[in-house]
Amino acid sequence: MSDVLAVAEHRRGELRDVSFELVTAGRELADATGGDLHVAVVGGDTDSFADALNREGVDQLHAVEYGEEFNHDVYVQATEALFGDLDPEFLVVPNSVNGLDYAPAIANKLGLPYVSDAVDVEYDGSLTATREMYGSKVETTIEVAEGPYAVSIRGGEWPAAEGVGDADVSAFDVDFDEDAIRSTVTGFEEVGAGDVDISEAEFLVSIGRGIEEEENLPLIEALVEATDATLSSSRPIVDNGWLPKNRQVGQSGKQVTPDVYLAIGISGAVQHVAGMKGAETIIAVNTDPDAPIFDIADYGVVGDLFDVVPALIEEFGGDAP
Ligand code: FAD
Repeated sequence: MSDVLAVAEHRRGELRDVSFELVTAGRELADATGGDLHVAVVGGDTDSFADALNREGVDQLHAVEYGEEFNHDVYVQATEALFGDLDPEFLVVPNSVNGLDYAPAIANKLGLPYVSDAVDVEYDGSLTATREMYGSKVETTIEVAEGPYAVSIRGGEWPAAEGVGDADVSAFDVDFDEDAIRSTVTGFEEVGAGDVDISEAEFLVSIGRGIEEEENLPLIEALVEATDATLSSSRPIVDNGWLPKNRQVGQSGKQVTPDVYLAIGISGAVQHVAGMKGAETIIAVNTDPDAPIFDIADYGVVGDLFDVVPALIEEFGGDAP
């Protein structure tokens, strides 16, 4: 009982970034337990997913053929079967909508202590996990004496595993109880602005209350177009109905981990920062030199966005409205 089982996540034919972060977290735990890292992928294009997940640090890949998309009952049955076969010390899944959907169910079924939304995990015979609380204002350390354990990890907290691995890939047969699969995924309907998923974007231009009114959106959209970025925002913009909810970054919005996060007219409240502090490079434009966003920004411009944004659009060869 020293192995680690990580269950990857995919959606609409693509592995999610957090799956590769899961490999890093799983490897760390496997090094600590002295066991192997098993990575499982359930449903979808399991062959190509398994190839892509074959990164350095993975010891064994398991492909479970069933359906295309995430399904609660399928994942519960597949994970239970894998767990029964491998007898690992850890089950690790992403702390995503899907992970949060089935991890508590599987933990309950198998009687595992479950730590959700972990931002750090350590093991030296027992588990010590770190979580954030009160909108990331405080960190809390949880010690769980006895495993095996179930943990869901927060996206953006571990680097993605790299390097090509040499793990064996094998099909894992699950004797699915069809009667216990109570729902079927028949299709997808994206809400709000089309297919945009800000959590997957590499360059986010994010706007806050500093843009003052909805009539100023076209100025920002011109910058988004000129820089080939994706538009996101703080909560007031969504509360005002200027952008749909799927564009909101933060504690009650989405977690994002772009290469570049350009925050325009955003103060940097803890609830906002909770969703974007994993960005690689943070650039802030704000008139207030004491705005908290400057505490976490790599680059900052103390200035009026109505001067700075047109200058940026021009610099990138776009046309300001
Ligand atoms: P403000 O705090 O009003 O900041 C506007 C900034 O624009 C200021 O710093 C100002 O100096 C600057 N500015 C003004 N004019 C200009 C100009 N012309 N040029 C340049 N800069 C200018 N917030 C989120 O964003 N995401 C969440 O998920 C979220 N969840 C929450 C959950 C809970 C339970 C609670 C209580 C709050 C949550 N909030 C969330 C709200 C959060 O507390 C802040 O109120 C919000 O993030 C502030 O948004 P803002 O930075 O756009 O606005």
